[in-house]
Amino acid sequence: MIVMKFGGTSVANCEAITRTISIVGDRLAQKPVVVVSALSKVTDLLYRITDCAGARDREAADGYIDDLAARHTELAKELLKDSGSCDEACAKVEEICRELRDFVGAVCSLGELTDRSRARIISRGEWLSSTIICYAMNARGIVTRFVDARRMIVTSDCYMKGEPDMAAIAARVPEIVAEAYSGADAVITQGFIAATAKGETTVLGRGGSDYSASLIGMALDAERIEIWTDVDGVRTADPRIVPDTKSISRISFEEAAEMAHFGAKVLHPMTIEPAVMKNIPVYVLNSMNPAGEGTAILQSDRIEDGVKSVSYKENILLLNIFSTKMINVSGFLQKVFAIFSQYKVSVDLISTSEANISLTMDGNQDIDEVVKALSEFAEVDVDRDKAQISVIGKNIVNLRGLLKQTMASLKDCNVYMISQGASFVNISFVVDRSSMKDAVREVHKYLFEDNGYESGDQRIR
Ligand code: ADP
Ligand code: ASP
Ligand code: MG
Repeated sequence: MIVMKFGGTSVANCEAITRTISIVGDRLAQKPVVVVSALSKVTDLLYRITDCAGARDREAADGYIDDLAARHTELAKELLKDSGSCDEACAKVEEICRELRDFVGAVCSLGELTDRSRARIISRGEWLSSTIICYAMNARGIVTRFVDARRMIVTSDCYMKGEPDMAAIAARVPEIVAEAYSGADAVITQGFIAATAKGETTVLGRGGSDYSASLIGMALDAERIEIWTDVDGVRTADPRIVPDTKSISRISFEEAAEMAHFGAKVLHPMTIEPAVMKNIPVYVLNSMNPAGEGTAILQSDRIEDGVKSVSYKENILLLNIFSTKMINVSGFLQKVFAIFSQYKVSVDLISTSEANISLTMDGNQDIDEVVKALSEFAEVDVDRDKAQISVIGKNIVNLRGLLKQTMASLKDCNVYMISQGASFVNISFVVDRSSMKDAVREVHKYLFEDNGYESGDQRIR
């Protein structure tokens, strides 16, 4: 069995879906479980609808829901125009949108928008796309069964970013998929959507469809997990900000996880974890260029040492904690981290000196409570509008001169913090947000353009 996940751009419109179905059609012998995202931009629209619901602006919400209904109905008509199931599919779209309108209306009347309601609204994008694509696959002769992802992916009740219950998922998925497969050529389900053990809808956080695919892959002990997107695999940097990126043919699980964690949007940060548990290869492929080689993400012993990629996080904040009480005193760090844990604020990089701890974290997190609690025993300074640049590669610690040369390419900006992960897979720098893009381009240029890193005097030991 294999898992094939198609992202928003791969299912954006009739043409993209037609291409996607033909890619799936070529893999039927491997029994694909197809995981789809919402159509491109639909999740953003659903977020706007939740904002309207929160603001009790029913008129605006209804306007957006009309747009949502029109886009999906048009798509269903276009995809199914020559088939007998067009009316049925359009009726389903209408029903889903009507239920959404009623639900949003109820939230507006109550005037209370909880995360539980938010997740119910936001989950509708994948529900709509998977419904239409299932009809389209059947209309093209691929007997496809629709499975509600909420029966398979069990999470905590953190509704907007559910934490998966691996044991429950592993126990449920094989049976549900096997049952759906009887007499079918393929199975389709939704990415991103999950449910608590009680069956309340949750979502896995932005970009979470990748994570759904790898959770299902893990539970099925799949042969491979394919992430189909709009670029030719994982690249040496984000092609949206660096013009001359190169495709990477293979990287290790650790490198991919680190890249995703340190900002590369091509994969949800948690995607690799379930795959590693069962050593399942993950392929990142381009649905607009299905013949392309893409990137294979494999066990580390099959991957060569060296720099693979530069990633960035655009909006981070730097928290500096000063206290003379930490000098020669054990337990200070524990006290600090207990506070982060209590308020569920996650930390990326850490650096400590005699009387100071510096930490970076996502700039969108609410840290007011953390700052208040820390201020009771230390001086705290919050430095916003910073960005983080990470150079990722297996055993980069062995690359002589890498730090010196990378720092040289950062000569035009202030560097507030440097951190080398204990795994020796990344070196990260904190710079001003305003200088980030140029800095990423400079570092990339040095590492992968010009003569390239390995042609210089710094070689792998
Ligand atoms: P999908 O909707 O298919 O999940 P995403 O937009 O989430 O697609 O992820 C793909 C995008 O990730 C690419 O279009 C690219 O702009 C961006 N990206 C960022 N960093 C990288 C990288 N290192 N390699 C490839 N793509 C990257
Ligand atoms: N549709 C969701 C999002 O846009 C999940 C995904 O596409 O992976 O975040
Ligand atoms: Mg994505």
